[in-house]
Amino acid sequence: MKIIKIDKEKWADGLGNVAESYRLFGPKKENTFFSFKALEKGELPDFSFSNTRLSPKSLVYPQSEAMFEYTLDETRDDHHLMKAIDKAYSPRAVIGIRPCDAKAFLLVKKNFDTLDYKDPYWIKPYEATTWVGLACNTPCSTCFCTSAGCGPFHEEGLDLLLVDDGGHFFAKVVTARGEKLIHVAGWGTEADADSAMKRIQALKKKAEAKTTATICTDKLKDVSITALFYARFWEKISFSCINCGTCSYVCPTCWCFDIQDEVYGDSGVRMRNWDSCMYPLFTLHGSGHNPREEKHQRVRQRFMHKLKYYPDKYKNGIQCVGCGRCIRLCPVNIDIRRICELMNSYDPEACPVK
Ligand code: SF4
Ligand code: SF4
Repeated sequence: MKIIKIDKEKWADGLGNVAESYRLFGPKKENTFFSFKALEKGELPDFSFSNTRLSPKSLVYPQSEAMFEYTLDETRDDHHLMKAIDKAYSPRAVIGIRPCDAKAFLLVKKNFDTLDYKDPYWIKPYEATTWVGLACNTPCSTCFCTSAGCGPFHEEGLDLLLVDDGGHFFAKVVTARGEKLIHVAGWGTEADADSAMKRIQALKKKAEAKTTATICTDKLKDVSITALFYARFWEKISFSCINCGTCSYVCPTCWCFDIQDEVYGDSGVRMRNWDSCMYPLFTLHGSGHNPREEKHQRVRQRFMHKLKYYPDKYKNGIQCVGCGRCIRLCPVNIDIRRICELMNSYDPEACPVK
């Protein structure tokens, strides 16, 4: 294992070197919140954030993305032909992603990069990126990553993990890509691995102890899908939901989208836009039938997908990394931890199927 000690006085120079061959992205403050954005020349990522309001998923999977263009002008030979839009996928580095958000990409990958189907719009930017994580020394009160298969110092999905230790960072090399970035930056020297690891472990233990919120998922796999689907609690849970879709938009593991054509005069663009299972239009059929017409059906879909369908299908835990955004930002305080508790402890004998 390789750990580099980066003196903070050398941080900016190293990032300047990296910027010569990578496009850099990092957290930036906008009014009262933070977002991941492209960093301008000489600009440093702002590490004073706890976590960004929107997850960094848009770096790979933009909220709106043009996929094809076409013309309806019948005087042109190429009229009505879909033409792929050229995109640049040059090397990029995301500096300061939180471990939960980095792991979230691996969960989403299961949807966009499968044996049967490979989505080039998602895979190419993901693979062009070097992921430099920033361990959470002070998790938010709503974070429950440690019980959601993740943690404040988790390394899955990262190439490099930075640990802030006051006057310096420890940079733990996770992959060859991470090692390459360290080399390009020209940062510091290799630390004594044993003493650096001891310090990292101590900080990790402290951060985990501060992550007091939890989610309990141990019995989810044993409850039948049908019993949960017809459970009586969905109407009660969904009563206050206003179907605003905030929970899906801020979530790093939500992947639903819609494809729409936007036509101006004779020119058309086929767009992919984020969508949400919380919106009634999402499942509206061309016939006018809507299988999720009622609010409780849509709320049920969101939580069944994250906590039952996904774990049953992929068998690698829930479709949630415990970032806590949906809890912090839901305008009516719907809390995935509470819903998970109801699902996890559901007893169809005590509450028979409707
Ligand atoms: S953020 Fe809250 S109110 Fe909005 S759709 Fe999600 S659960 Fe409903
Ligand atoms: S469901 Fe909520 S807590 Fe879980 S990853 Fe999505 S936004 Fe974060």
